Amino acid sequence: MGEGSKLAILGGPKAVTLDQKGITGWPIVTEEDEEAVLEVLRRGAMSGRDVTMQFEQEYADWHGTKYALGHSSGTAALQAAMWACGVGVGDEIISPSLTYWASALPVFGLQGTVVFADVHPDTLTIDPGDIEHRITQRTKAIVPVHLGGHPADMDPIMDIAEKHDIKVIEDVSHAHGALYKGRLVGAIGHVACFSIMSGKALATGEGGMLTTSDRYIWEKATAWGHYGRTRATQWTGELEEQIITAPDLTPFVGMPWGGYKYRMHQLTSAMGRVQLKHYKERMAEIQQAMNYFWDLLEGVPGLQAHRPPQNSGSTMGGWYAPRGIYNSEKLGGLHLHRFAEAVAAEGATCGAGSRRRLHLHPLFNEADIYGHGKPTRIANSDRDLRQPEGSLPVTEAEGDRVYNIPWFKHYWPKIIEEHAAAYRKVAENADQLL
Ligand SMILES: *Cc1c(COP(=O)(O)O)cnc(C)c1O
Repeated sequence: MGEGSKLAILGGPKAVTLDQKGITGWPIVTEEDEEAVLEVLRRGAMSGRDVTMQFEQEYADWHGTKYALGHSSGTAALQAAMWACGVGVGDEIISPSLTYWASALPVFGLQGTVVFADVHPDTLTIDPGDIEHRITQRTKAIVPVHLGGHPADMDPIMDIAEKHDIKVIEDVSHAHGALYKGRLVGAIGHVACFSIMSGKALATGEGGMLTTSDRYIWEKATAWGHYGRTRATQWTGELEEQIITAPDLTPFVGMPWGGYKYRMHQLTSAMGRVQLKHYKERMAEIQQAMNYFWDLLEGVPGLQAHRPPQNSGSTMGGWYAPRGIYNSEKLGGLHLHRFAEAVAAEGATCGAGSRRRLHLHPLFNEADIYGHGKPTRIANSDRDLRQPEGSLPVTEAEGDRVYNIPWFKHYWPKIIEEHAAAYRKVAENADQLL
């Protein structure tokens, strides 16, 4: 063993030595963002909707959807989408458990509930093969999440939805700009929701966007959280027939139908417009950097890229919180946590130990939020649909096989090469840790 291959965790030299100087810093905020925000402040238009409507138009144009509707958060957009898709008392959505809570939890506020499906071990997105048997009379929507930028397998999901006449709500909070077989995610399902809070790939302040080409869904989402627009909206008529029996809509406009106020802060929309203008170019650099990292690790034992196959027409968008997949068997059984410690000791980023298993969380199993005298998850259900430990094996194994890799925002090859070298060094010298 050469001294150079002695692992840093055992006293050897570190693989990463260069200054990291901002390669992962995000968002990129320039004077253009500052000017756009100041313009709104100086005009005192923080609570208006003119800038938001421009942002919506640009967002819809980008996706080729008929509508985009700005929200105060991605969470708000998701709840609006659920309601717009008809989720009500006792109704069910099907979502992955391996996601941020907001993909599913807003359903509680509608007195509905969630049934979790497992994920596919390579894509970490909802497994189309684990959806159909979970559909009941009360299922209203499937919520695929493009986890960590990886597009969910939308074709079979849309087929299942069509067959059962239910809706698909894409959660695009991790995958702004990702392609699925050449099509932009967020324009494939019946409706899509995006978080654009500061941590996401398309980053502003707190905010969310809802896109759809379905007039009825757009009208409902508007009625739900945008009271200020209900008067100006040209209702097609379908909505009032289904939601209210009054022949005259007038008493209902000017008020949000669910009692929520979800419009976007105009400092968010102002910054969002600037961020969106530069996003494609910045995303392209992220893609180049991240693909370079994985290309360097091609064939290294135990390490599998979390990205769609090359030439599949699918891409990772902005690679939000990118991940890798670990196979400890290929490294003599070395546990992921020990592997991650060793990579970190080399000076590279390697985060292991995520705990995103919603189906095992007490909030989804025990909490009685609204005082029903039973857990909210089953308060309005005709059966106990809770899912115990062991019920979603791929999701539950995630903590031992998925880790976070550095999220490079710039294609600075020398730094990326050092990080890849750190991963390679630990994987190829795993025997030193056994
Ligand atoms: C961030 C996020 C949300 C919620 O968005 P907010 O803007 O934080 O409310 C929803 N789903 C996923 C998968 C997220 O990561």
